[in-house]
Amino acid sequence: MCIMADSKLYDLLGVSRSATDNEVKKAYRRLAKEYHPDKNPENGDIFKEISFAYDVLSNPEKKGIYDKHGLKGLQEGASDHSGFFADDLFSHIFGGGMFGGMGGGMGAMGGARRARRQRGQDTLHPLRVTLEDLYTGKTAKLQLSKNVICLACKGMGGRPGAMVNCKSCHGRGIKVTVQQLGPGMVQHFQTVCPDCHGEGEYINERDRCKDCLGKKVKNETKVLEVHVDKGMRDGQKIYFYGEGDQQPGIEPGDIIIVLQQKDHEVFQRDASDDLWMTHTIGITEALCGGQFTVTHLDNQTLLVTITAGQVLRPGVVMTVEREGMPFYKNPFEKGNLHIRFDVRFPENGFADNSALVELEAMLPPRPQFIMPTGEHMEEVNLHDYNPHDERGSGRTDAYHEDEEESGAGVRCAHQ
Ligand SMILES: [Zn+2]
Ligand SMILES: [Zn+2]
Repeated sequence: MCIMADSKLYDLLGVSRSATDNEVKKAYRRLAKEYHPDKNPENGDIFKEISFAYDVLSNPEKKGIYDKHGLKGLQEGASDHSGFFADDLFSHIFGGGMFGGMGGGMGAMGGARRARRQRGQDTLHPLRVTLEDLYTGKTAKLQLSKNVICLACKGMGGRPGAMVNCKSCHGRGIKVTVQQLGPGMVQHFQTVCPDCHGEGEYINERDRCKDCLGKKVKNETKVLEVHVDKGMRDGQKIYFYGEGDQQPGIEPGDIIIVLQQKDHEVFQRDASDDLWMTHTIGITEALCGGQFTVTHLDNQTLLVTITAGQVLRPGVVMTVEREGMPFYKNPFEKGNLHIRFDVRFPENGFADNSALVELEAMLPPRPQFIMPTGEHMEEVNLHDYNPHDERGSGRTDAYHEDEEESGAGVRCAHQ
C-alpha cells in the first residue's frame, strides 16, 4: 500500500522538508523554550508534539522512515522496534487524535500554533495552606462558579432542531458587503452577522430553552473538595480534570489548584522534606546540658535533651531524625528536623568574679601569653562599642558630613 508522505512533523517545527539538521535543531530549541511546561503549563500537549517531531527529525533512521512512509510508517516501525518510542508518547501522539486522524487534512500550518481539537481553558486557583496543613493533611472546600451545559436542552439551546442556520449569513457568522468605489474597483467589508451575532446559527425566540434562555450553558456554584495530602509542598498542583467551564462541542479544561504555603513562625521547610528551626539556649545549657520542648506541627510535644558535656557551639546544627515533613505519598516516612542553636552568653558579666577561678579550672587552659621584651608598648583599655561615638581619622562628625555633601574632598584628592 502506498501512503502519501506527509509533512506534519516539519510543520510542527515550522521548517521545510528540506531543512538542514541545524535548522531543525534551531527551530526545536526556539519552540521548546516557548512551550516548555514550566513556562507554559497549559500547552503541555504542544510541547510533547514538538519534542516528538524533533525526536524523529533529528534521528536519521526515524527521519528516513518518516520521509518515506509518514507517521503511519513510524507507527508500523514502532511495533517492530521495541523501544523505538516511549509507549505513552506514541499512544498520546497517535491514539489521542492529536493529528486529527491519520492522514487527516491538517493543511499547511505555521509552526506549533495550529488548529487543535478544541479544549476549554484551564483555570488556576491558589489555595493558601499552612505548614501544619501540609504536615497533617486536610480537606479544603473550595467554592467556584462555573458554566455547565444546560440539562434541560442538553446544550442545544432549545428543542431538538430548534437551532437553524442563519439565512442572513448562510451560517458563516460573517457578512461580506461589497462597495463599488469606482469603475472596476470594489471594496469588500467583513462584518459580524447582526442576525446571529456571529454564531452562524440561531434559535427562534419561541423555541428557546426556558432554562438557559438559549445560552446552552448555565452558571452553577460548585464546591470542590481539595485533598491536601500529607507531605505536599508549596507550589504543588492538584488537578481536577475536566472541571473547567463547560461549553457545547468543547472539551472542558481543568481546574488546577496551586498550593501556597504561608510562612511558619518556627519551622522552615527546605527543598527536601527536612524541617529547620532555631533554638536559643544559655551558655549553661550549651556547656552543662539541659532540656527543652518543641511543639511540633501536629501539636505533639518533643522533649529534646542536650547531653551534659556535649558543648554546643553558637550556630551549631543538631539533627533530630525522622521529625521532619512526612514524605508525599509515603507519609509514614519522614525527613529530619534540624535545630540550629543560638547560644546566649551572660550579658552583664558575672556579679561575683571570685567564682571564675573555679570555672576556669574546669575550662580548657588558656593559650600561653608571652610578654614581649625590649619593645615600646602602650597599654590600652577595652570599652563597650558605641556606634554613635565615631572618631575616624581624628575628624569630628560635623566635618565629615560637610565633606561628603560637597564631594570636595574627593575632587581635591585627584587634582
Ligand atoms: Zn437550556
Ligand atoms: Zn448570521
